[in-house]
Amino acid sequence: MQLSVPRVDSFVDGVRAPSNSPRYGELRNPGTGDLLAHVPFATRAEVDEVVASSAAAFPGWRDTPVVERCRILFRYKQLLEENLEELADWISRENGKIPEEAQGSVRRGIEVVEFACGMSTLIQGSTVENVSRGLDCASFRQPLGVCAGITPFNFPAMVPMWLYPVAIACGNAFVLKPSEKVPGAALRLAELFAEAGLPPGVFNVVQGDREAVEALVENVSVRAVSFVGSAPVARYVYEAASMAGKRVQALAGAKNHLVAMPDCNLDKTADAIIGSAFGSAGERCMAISAVVTVGEVHEPLMEKVKDRAEALQLGAAADGGSDLGPLISGPHRERVLEYIETGLDEGARLALDGRCHSGVDDLSGYFLGPSIFDGVSPKMKIYQDEIFGPVLCVIQAEDLDEAIEVVNANRFGNGTAIFTESGWAAREYQNRVQVGMVGINVGVPVPLAFFSFSGWRGSFFGDLHAHGRDGVNFYTEQKVVSSRWFGSD
Ligand code: NAD
Repeated sequence: MQLSVPRVDSFVDGVRAPSNSPRYGELRNPGTGDLLAHVPFATRAEVDEVVASSAAAFPGWRDTPVVERCRILFRYKQLLEENLEELADWISRENGKIPEEAQGSVRRGIEVVEFACGMSTLIQGSTVENVSRGLDCASFRQPLGVCAGITPFNFPAMVPMWLYPVAIACGNAFVLKPSEKVPGAALRLAELFAEAGLPPGVFNVVQGDREAVEALVENVSVRAVSFVGSAPVARYVYEAASMAGKRVQALAGAKNHLVAMPDCNLDKTADAIIGSAFGSAGERCMAISAVVTVGEVHEPLMEKVKDRAEALQLGAAADGGSDLGPLISGPHRERVLEYIETGLDEGARLALDGRCHSGVDDLSGYFLGPSIFDGVSPKMKIYQDEIFGPVLCVIQAEDLDEAIEVVNANRFGNGTAIFTESGWAAREYQNRVQVGMVGINVGVPVPLAFFSFSGWRGSFFGDLHAHGRDGVNFYTEQKVVSSRWFGSD
């Protein structure tokens, strides 16, 4: 082990906590390949200690009046605003996002804190007086206890913020295990919450990998698990945590389609495809990774998309002026390159080859230019799998019915978009498509915090989604009280 390389801390009981784990991973800047730190992988015993700290903090936090809890959230929101650029810098350094994308993602996370600031209203139950003679009924929503969040590498601040602000505002304690590939932003998020006045132990962060996840899922004090990540791990967490009697929401992978109708606005549709398919190097669960062109729109639209994709500038966040940042790691870049080979073997036409993109060979980080496969069929592996990189698959359909069939036959159902000038086509699409988040002339239809992030089918395991009304219901249990009072006679 190189002693000069710093080790990343966890955050427990209101302070940074070093780990003694003998196991660790390397944290590299994806834009340069430089080694930044070692990330210790918490042992089971360490995870259990972190959960115990949260369990001890829970009763006091649960009994803190909701308006007092919200005041701390208001202060937290202010601190997040003041530290937005620093948080974005952590994201750029560890995840590689270009500054605009990193800052935008923190802003979307802050919107969830704003939503959670209204918990005094959101957590209200209902009452009915005199349901029977002299009998009143009231429902209350109570926090669960210790909740755990397990999050992916692609949004180091925003995805954790979909979860813990709502859970904590509801009166729960929360243990976050961020992705071991991006540990820094979560640590700062926890420090700022403590600075805002959150009592020690209410929000703990534990750095770790699979072993830490297993320890959280099996710990009897953890009442609810929120997972966000790839489909196979989402399925495992959903099954294991459910079997252990916990409440679970597991947000999984995606293959999102954009349907381009013959009457779509070509320039606006091409812009939306570029932003959605290649933004964040395609490492977004709401990225458009498949375009379905309907009828004669195919050629003129693809020409515009290809021209725009060719013009995208690759570069590291620190250098500025870049449109497309790196992939998260060398191994992930290799995996995406293998998919490009697979696509060629399967007979798809590589209309744009990101391996030869201008600048790709001059950069030391994990860069890859945008690739476009045309003539893709739904049977191909490059279409069925989530590639999670800047690779776009294009499928042709004769009409709207065929396009809807293609989208509905895919196993994922996270997000989708239709681009058209026809209200009828848009309405048919939103009604018939089996996908949970739909954009009409909107390329990345991510709902704002007061709605829920509503993936369907293979993109979600569970019942209640993240944030919005579902988020409040997920992190609270309903109690119904029937009361009768006897008079003196
Ligand atoms: P991942 O599944 O590899 O990791 C997610 C989390 O699970 C991490 O904290 C990781 O430490 C842990 N983990 C990894 N392997 C594990 C295992 N075998 N057992 C237990 N825990 C394990 O996902 P990732 O590569 O970090 O993120 C990319 C994926 O996340 C993509 O599939 C993307 O679509 C998905 N994602 C989905 C959403 C959504 O809202 N549906 C949002 C963001 C990302």
